[in-house]
Amino acid sequence: MDHYAVFGNPIKQSKSPFIHTLFAQQTQEKMVYSAIEPAIDDFDAALKAFFLEQGKGCNITAPFKEQAYQYAQQLTKRAELAGAVNTLKLTDDGILIGDNTDGAGLVLDLKNNHVTLKGARILLIGAGGAARGVCGPLLAEQPKELIIANRTFSKAQTLTTIFTKLGNISAGEFSELSGEFDLIINSTSASLQGEVPLISAKLIRPETTIYDMMYSAQVTPFNAWAKEQGARLTIDGLGMLVGQAAESFAIWRGVKPGAKQVLNELRHNLAT
Ligand code: NDP
Repeated sequence: MDHYAVFGNPIKQSKSPFIHTLFAQQTQEKMVYSAIEPAIDDFDAALKAFFLEQGKGCNITAPFKEQAYQYAQQLTKRAELAGAVNTLKLTDDGILIGDNTDGAGLVLDLKNNHVTLKGARILLIGAGGAARGVCGPLLAEQPKELIIANRTFSKAQTLTTIFTKLGNISAGEFSELSGEFDLIINSTSASLQGEVPLISAKLIRPETTIYDMMYSAQVTPFNAWAKEQGARLTIDGLGMLVGQAAESFAIWRGVKPGAKQVLNELRHNLAT
């Protein structure tokens, strides 16, 4: 049977085996999907062994996404721009292709939540790996403007340089952000420390959609803060997680699974 896996360290928290097993049931694809935790300095050897032993494809999570980027023999355009790989596929010709589906997962989840991206003014907070992965797919949706704001301003400027040819992208200091945003995305890891990035509450209007890439059983700190400022629609990153997985599954199996049932089950599991 075709074997797929997620590689990360640590990995026991990963929801990918649950998600892909449900996708396989839903689409009646015959495959197994497991979780693999290589030692930090053993990633390349673990990947090699996996593909020698009937592995057809895998997901890559922290801290190996940049190493997977180096390991891939060919890269998709979006993986090249993202500078990181979260999906590897072994072709029938034996070529290992690296892709990045994080941005597609975000866009899919935003669309599933009926958020309009074309012509929108978007603020993306954070300039780490997750932000870099979503800039290309967001710009492909032709927003009016994409502003990147980050605690370390120079990193926001670097992203702007990388993506400037793809659309109207610029960098902004937290203290200088102004005007009305249709969508504010938090891609920082501040929520993991229970913190909220220091942007002005004035940027949030009732009709501003708020998206926190982090997810948890409770409302995330950023979304809780945005709700307090009056935001009506706040979304967390669980749907992005399912969306990127659906995109990976389609790359491997050529069939796109539905995200809704899996998302509902994951949400239920988080709450119990
Ligand atoms: P990185 O470590 O690459 O980047 C972290 C970013 O957060 C940097 O921009 C950093 O700013 C910023 N940051 C950290 N702490 C604070 C703080 N207290 N205040 C303001 N900014 C802060 O992480 P990733 O980009 O890989 O991941 C970011 C988040 O996205 C994580 O929570 C991760 O779980 C989530 N994620 C969710 C996914 C999903 O499918 N839902 C997929 C991928 C990521 P600075 O540069 O100044 O240090």
